Amino acid sequence: MPAIGIDLGTTNSCVAVFRNGRVEIIANDLGNRVTPSYISFARGERQVGEAAKEDSTENYENTLYQIKRLIGRTYDDPSVQADMKLWGFTVINDDNKPKIPVVNSSKGDLFCPEQISAMILEEMKNTAEAFLGETVTDAVITVPAYFNDAQRKATSDAGVIAGLNVIGMINEPTAAAVAYGLDRQSENERNVLIFDLGGGTFDVTIVKITGHKFDVKATGGDTHLGGEDFDNTLLEYFVSEFKQKHGEDISENKRALNRLRVACEGAKRKLSSTTQAKVQLDALQDGYDFRSNISRAKFENLNYNFFERVFDTVKNTLSDSGLKKENIDDVVLVGGSTRIPKIREMLGKYFDNIELKRTINPDEAVAYGAAAYAFALGSDEDPALKGFVLEDVIPLSIGIRMYDGTMGFVIPRKTKIPTKLWETWHTSEDNQTTVSFKIYEGERTLAEENHFLGEFTISGIPPAPRKKGQGNVLLEINACGILHVKVIEKITKNSNEITIAGAKGRLSDSEIKRMVQEAVKFRKRDQELKQRSDARNALEDYAYTVKEGVDQKHLTRQQRESIMSKVTEILQWLDINMTELPERSEIEAKKRELERVVE
Ligand code: AMP
Repeated sequence: MPAIGIDLGTTNSCVAVFRNGRVEIIANDLGNRVTPSYISFARGERQVGEAAKEDSTENYENTLYQIKRLIGRTYDDPSVQADMKLWGFTVINDDNKPKIPVVNSSKGDLFCPEQISAMILEEMKNTAEAFLGETVTDAVITVPAYFNDAQRKATSDAGVIAGLNVIGMINEPTAAAVAYGLDRQSENERNVLIFDLGGGTFDVTIVKITGHKFDVKATGGDTHLGGEDFDNTLLEYFVSEFKQKHGEDISENKRALNRLRVACEGAKRKLSSTTQAKVQLDALQDGYDFRSNISRAKFENLNYNFFERVFDTVKNTLSDSGLKKENIDDVVLVGGSTRIPKIREMLGKYFDNIELKRTINPDEAVAYGAAAYAFALGSDEDPALKGFVLEDVIPLSIGIRMYDGTMGFVIPRKTKIPTKLWETWHTSEDNQTTVSFKIYEGERTLAEENHFLGEFTISGIPPAPRKKGQGNVLLEINACGILHVKVIEKITKNSNEITIAGAKGRLSDSEIKRMVQEAVKFRKRDQELKQRSDARNALEDYAYTVKEGVDQKHLTRQQRESIMSKVTEILQWLDINMTELPERSEIEAKKRELERVVE
């Protein structure tokens, strides 16, 4: 059974497989090699990909997108709060976890980001299964290098809900480096900087590539910076222009906002090849049309701060890697937003006009690398991947809060994964019988200023003077970058351990189990709806065939009239039941009624 590589993108997703000595990107049933990361619900039916994206301007409340911006985040996260305002769908606060109510789903479901991402993953799994003609369960899923532990764990949970066995996770820029290295086919050592600017996230990774050995030197990024931010600045610009022109505020009109956002993205893309782009929307609000123009210079000016932020990250990552810009041999562009001319110009200038490599397809490179990695994780061998070694690093330090509130760094950033480290601990008070451990990730001196991952306690410590109660703590990061912590008390050997799942905003094992069952139910519901829709089409087809054939048959007037009256009755019944599909048995019974009359 082959293992697949899935690039689960903010905007688009892509699936690939390594077989017969090469990576194949798998096209979806529309023949497209990338699938929009969109889900929509209408009349209890679920659409994924292109069909859902097309739905987004009309069925805006029930069309979900950019879910990667929510995954692993809490509701009160400032970025969630800012994003929500510009989305057509609603996000609600469920115990500080963002959840999405879907009005048009049959029962008014409330979904968490992991479930929505699981639906996209499931679609990619189905695409691969249709192509390979066999069941696929093993998969490598990609994540931005700068995703924190909560975001990684949530993505992995989404895989489980989708019915996948997540055999590994690979950082997106590292996957792109793999694609680049395999494509180059050279044994010479090169320092390669991967510049990955996609729809929602930005990553920079510096990798030393020697043949099929990929050694990540440093990684940096921003999990909330990408093409959608550029769309949003355009959106806000046009919202204020509309207000100025017509005195109307469209910021509360979700349908208008969605239409304008789609137009903004189109204009942005156009500006990568032309210097002017038009935005034209009929009857945007209260019958007012919107007609405007934007120049490339204005677009660049509006997004200047974002572009600067991108370059600060490039500089910091370079200095982290211990290399100078002169030591970088190749700069490889990945992600749709690297098509923006200003970004290319700034990069080219910074690296003293080094040629920017565009030899790999920016939309497919990540899935490509993931598929190669998925194969390498298995037991099969292939000369095309001979000697494949991947050494990745953690982007942020992991530590424990000390008694004085400072961060006790245990695993420093840039440590190669997988890794495990033991630390000792001791009590801080006399006769202390419990000690709690608060785990954080980040680089700040005060623990509280870092990102809180989770907390747990060990109890039953035999009373003793301070510092005499002692034990060990193990912090372990697996190949997916997910953290597991274990604490042992020295005398009693009591222990406690967690895969940081108790942290705020994360799913518990029982929640995941429930969602897996729900996903199966959804799959069943989809299948059932398909059966109903097939039955409906068969009935409609049959009714029309009878209607068209009735004149060619030798029938009495009475026979003809009774057939036609039944046909009319059936077609009317189908019309009435256009939106809510009746049960399949009911539809089939109608077909039998007509068949009896015809007979
Ligand atoms: P990705 O996440 O790599 O699929 O990148 C998707 C992002 O790339 C979206 O924000 C797109 O709007 C953006 N994008 C795609 N093509 C272009 C283009 N020609 N110019 C500017 N941005 C683009």
